[in-house]
Amino acid sequence: MSESVGASPQHSGASATMRGRQVVIVGGGPAGYEAALVARQLASEVTLVERQGVGGAAVLTDVVPSKTLIATAEWRSVIESADELGVHLDGATALPVDLGEVNARVRGLAAQQSADIRARLEREGVRVFDGAGRIVTAGVVQATAADGAESELDADVILVATGASPRVLSSARPDGERILTWTQLYSLTELPERLIVVGSGVTGAEFAGAFGALGCDVVLISSRDRVLPGEDPDAAALIEEAFRRRGMRVLSRSRAAAAERRGDSVVVTLEDGREVTGSHCLMAVGGVPNSAGLGLEEAGVALTRSGHVQVDRVSRTTVPQIYAAGDVTGVLPLASVAATQGRIAMWHALGDAVAPLDTRNVPANVFTAPEIATVGISAAAAAEHGARATTVPLARNARAKMQGIHEGFIKIIARDGDGTVLGGVVVGPRASEFIHVLTLAVTTRVTVDQLASAMTIYPSLSGSMAEAARQLHAAPSQR
Ligand SMILES: Cc1cc2nc3c(=O)[nH]c(=O)nc-3n(C[C@H](O)[C@H](O)[C@H](O)COP(=O)(O)OP(=O)(O)OC[C@H]3O[C@@H](n4cnc5c(N)ncnc54)[C@H](O)[C@@H]3O)c2cc1C
Repeated sequence: MSESVGASPQHSGASATMRGRQVVIVGGGPAGYEAALVARQLASEVTLVERQGVGGAAVLTDVVPSKTLIATAEWRSVIESADELGVHLDGATALPVDLGEVNARVRGLAAQQSADIRARLEREGVRVFDGAGRIVTAGVVQATAADGAESELDADVILVATGASPRVLSSARPDGERILTWTQLYSLTELPERLIVVGSGVTGAEFAGAFGALGCDVVLISSRDRVLPGEDPDAAALIEEAFRRRGMRVLSRSRAAAAERRGDSVVVTLEDGREVTGSHCLMAVGGVPNSAGLGLEEAGVALTRSGHVQVDRVSRTTVPQIYAAGDVTGVLPLASVAATQGRIAMWHALGDAVAPLDTRNVPANVFTAPEIATVGISAAAAAEHGARATTVPLARNARAKMQGIHEGFIKIIARDGDGTVLGGVVVGPRASEFIHVLTLAVTTRVTVDQLASAMTIYPSLSGSMAEAARQLHAAPSQR
C-alpha cells in the first residue's frame, strides 16, 4: 500500500491555531500511518509508536501477504480456461507450485512495503518509535522499546490504532506448524497435502480458494448453510459452486469444536462428533481487538462488550483527547475504513474541516475466483428502501464469451421512481476494479439513466454494467 489507502477529500493545510500540537499515535497500520501523515500536514509534532513493523498487520500479515499469495493463485485459475481457448499444456497434468518461493516473495514484498511506508513517514517528519505504547493518562503515552527502555511521550492528542489479532479457540490452539492462523501461513515451504480451513467468512473463503487453486486438497468447514454468509446470497452460492466444481469439499452446517495434532496430521472434530483429518489446519474464525493492556479503561475510555473501543463518526472515544481508528474500533474491518477513520480523527482533533465517516458507500471485495465486489445497500434490503434490483449474467456478454468467462454477474440496485443507484454487486474477474464505477454512482447519487448514458467500450465486460442500468430505466408513467 504505497498508494494512499481509501479516498480522502483535499484539505487545505494547517491554520495558525493547530500548529505544533503533540500527537502520539499507538499502532502503525493504515489507521495509524495515514493519520500520522495528516497530522504532519497540519503541522503537528507526531510520534508513531509501533511494536511489530510500520504498515501494521495490514502490510505484514493480512492484506498485502494474502493478496500477493492470491496473485500467484490467480495464474493457476486462469489456466482453467486454457484448453477452451485452444492453449494446450503439452500433456502437463500439473503445474507445480513452489510454495517456499511463493512465500519468500510474499514476505519480501510485505517487508519492502513496510520499509517504503516507514521511509515516507520519516521523510514527512514523523518520528517512528519502535516499541509498545501504553496510555498512562489522557496526556501521556509510555513507550517501551524492544530492549526495555522506556520513554514518556507527552500528547495533546492520542490516537489508538492498535488493530486486531486472529481469534484463538482454546480447543484449537495454533502451533505454528500444522495448526495455523493466517499470520503463520507464510512460513510454509511446501503445499499442505490437505488443508482444512475452519471458517467460511471472507478470510476463510479467500485462503480456501487460493490454496485450492495452488493445487492443494482443501476441506472448508462452514458453520453456516453456505459459505460467505455476509455476502450477497447469489454471489455466495456462485462461489460455493465454483469451489465444489474445482474439487473442494465444503462441509456446511458443520461447526468445528476442536483441532489437535496427531503425529503428522491434524484432526478437526466437529460438534456432531465427526472428525476431519488433514495435514494442516487454518483457523479463520475472526479477529479480536488489540485493546487489552493499553491502559484504555484506566484512562476512562469506554470499550464495547466485544472489547472494541467505542467511537463516534469522527473517531472520538469517551475521553476528549483520545481518538481511536481502525480494527480496534470494530466499525468495519477494512484497511480503507481504518485509513479514513485515522484521517478523520486528525482532521477533527486538529481543528480542520471534517465530514463524519459514512459507512454506507464503502466498497468491499472478496478476493476469490471470481471476485465478489459490493457497494451500498444489498438486494435483500432493496424493498425497505423502495428500490429494486436487476441482474445481468456475464455469460451473455460478448467479451466474456471471448475470454471463456462463464460465470459472474452484475447486479444494480436502484430506487424506484427516480432511479438513483443505491447499491451494486459485481461477481467476475477483477470485480474489485469494476466496482469503482458503482461506488462513484452510489456516492454521487447518479441515476441508472445517467449510468446508462455513459458509453462503454465494445466488447467489454462493462457493457453489462450499462445493460443492467438500462434494464432499470423506468417508463415515464412509473416515475
Ligand atoms: C487475511 C486478511 C486479509 C485482509 N484483506 C483485506 C483486503 O484485501 N482489503 C482490506 O481493505 N482489508 C483487508 N483486511 C482487513 C485489514 O487487514 C484491516 O482492516 C486493517 O489491517 C486494519 O488496520 P489498522 O490500522 O486498524 O490495524 P493493523 O493493520 O492491525 O495495525 C495495527 C498495528 O498496531 C500495532 N500495535 C498493537 N498494539 C500496539 C501497542 N500496544 N503498541 C504499539 N503498537 C501496537 C500492531 O503491531 C499493528 O502493527 C484483511 C484482514 C485479514 C485478516
